[in-house]
Amino acid sequence: MLRTHTCGELRPEHIGQTVTLCGWVQRTRDKGAILWIDLRDRYGLTQITLEEGVEAEAVRETARHLGREFVLSVTGKVAERYSKNDKMPTGGIEIRPDKVEILNPAKLPPFLIEDDTDGGDDLRMKYRYLDLRRTPVRNNLVLRHKMAQAVRRYLDGQEFIEVETPVLIKSTPEGARDFVVPSRMNPGEFYALPQSPQTFKQLLMVSGFDRYFQIVKCFRDEDLRADRQPEFTQIDCEMAFVTQEDILNTFEGLTRYLFKELKGIDFPTVPRMTYADAMRRFGNDKPDTRFAMEFVELTDIVKGQGFPVFDNAGLVVGINAATCAHFTRKQLDELTDFVKRPQIGATGLIYARVEVGGVVKSSVDKFYSQEELQRWSEALHANAGDLLLIIAGEPNKARKAMSELRLEMGQRLGLRNKEDFSPLWVVDFPLLEYSEEENRYFAMHHPFTSPKPEDLALLNSPDTIGQVRANAYDLVINGVEVGGGSIRIHDRAVQARMFSLLGFTDEEAKAQFGFLLDAFEYGAPPHGGIAFGFDRLCSLFGGADSIRDFIAFPKNNSGRDVMIDSPSPISEAQLKELSIKTAVVAK
Ligand code: ASP
Repeated sequence: MLRTHTCGELRPEHIGQTVTLCGWVQRTRDKGAILWIDLRDRYGLTQITLEEGVEAEAVRETARHLGREFVLSVTGKVAERYSKNDKMPTGGIEIRPDKVEILNPAKLPPFLIEDDTDGGDDLRMKYRYLDLRRTPVRNNLVLRHKMAQAVRRYLDGQEFIEVETPVLIKSTPEGARDFVVPSRMNPGEFYALPQSPQTFKQLLMVSGFDRYFQIVKCFRDEDLRADRQPEFTQIDCEMAFVTQEDILNTFEGLTRYLFKELKGIDFPTVPRMTYADAMRRFGNDKPDTRFAMEFVELTDIVKGQGFPVFDNAGLVVGINAATCAHFTRKQLDELTDFVKRPQIGATGLIYARVEVGGVVKSSVDKFYSQEELQRWSEALHANAGDLLLIIAGEPNKARKAMSELRLEMGQRLGLRNKEDFSPLWVVDFPLLEYSEEENRYFAMHHPFTSPKPEDLALLNSPDTIGQVRANAYDLVINGVEVGGGSIRIHDRAVQARMFSLLGFTDEEAKAQFGFLLDAFEYGAPPHGGIAFGFDRLCSLFGGADSIRDFIAFPKNNSGRDVMIDSPSPISEAQLKELSIKTAVVAK
């Protein structure tokens, strides 16, 4: 090796030894008589000191001409440092070199390669390999590595077998949009990249693998947000001969193991909440349960007093922002603007302050007597000093808007601490979801999810189909959907029925999923599984909002890799070889 030690390794006990370090110049300070170099590698920083009359003039001459990010090999003696720095693990020593060799010079980097950088997002993405030299970014990837190892250790210990499933598969109409790849050998035909290995992991259960996992890339051609990437990683798992209860316990175990191993936290038993309760109490199927501020439905209490906004509403819902009666007019206007933003879509916000002595002052005083306002206050369990926030409208819209407002209030009141972790299993999701636009039902999870046996009869009538619950579950931590899965259909007839409910003709179902239907005729065991969003899990553990910082080479919001400049056009010759007519492609 070109070095004897790393830049994070040397301590006072090494004093007197001759060592060779390799690394990058973080910075140099030239005070004339003394010159310092901070040499950096993945493991840390070590100070190199060159003193007039002590270190050879030739070596000092080399050191005087170093630039930031030059790659060096430094050989010298470990010495006790004059002014110790106890903030650095190597702060007790320095190297007094008798050789400084430039292994490679470097251009001045376009941004500071330090913990706090002056580089904007775009620049750092373009030079991602330089950004990755920065300790906080590197630490994120180290965390990711450790998570992946811990996942493998835990699942291996539970007899799960890691199997790689193919990346070139078949386009399917359900779910998100597919990325497709033209096939040169099969002109006019395309592979699709997997949105998840769903059908393959189910087939592995038919094959008798019994417990499967894979840390696997998945691809979805969706519009991007801060926590989405066109390619992302799942911890994908499947088990045979299990009930929902077994899956929840096994993967609660995995989550507990990860928290203990990586954060030293004893993770609590994960409470369960039905989808219906989550929607009613928090207006959201992934509620942030770090704080309460639960919804209270006021519809019956407030109607019939001549206030049209409430009288015409399908739902009037309130929350109690405890101790917030002091909010100023300006703050309340801000909250009103917040809920009226198009993404949130409320028509307005009604508030009431509970004053000293319990008198309630509201923005709709002229419609409601003090007695009536007291009933609101009671319903919301309010005390003097509390602020009641109320939204009215069509039930789903009002719930959604209130859910956003609740999160905003939680944020403003500092109730969403990144180091608190509040997990929740959300269970009993609806099997189907109606799309007004397409005038048909879609599978809420995916078409392979089994209905609850006790709800099967509800499938028989169009009036009750929407009420059928699925054996589907999500693991939510701090309002983030960390994982989701279901017990699957393993009966050919039920699966065929499901496809037909989703609007597939028999022929279409056969063409798309014939292989799965066939497999179900050869002894498919009962099975179920789950997939965790690995990037999200990493960002949650790392205390960040965006998954991008936990992916080595991420794409930007337009799905571009600005470093390699992809996607990009391909040559006429390539198009021709792929039987893609250039006339179609040409703008
Ligand atoms: N394949 C599902 C998903 O990607 C997860 C599962 O059901 O296991 O969401």
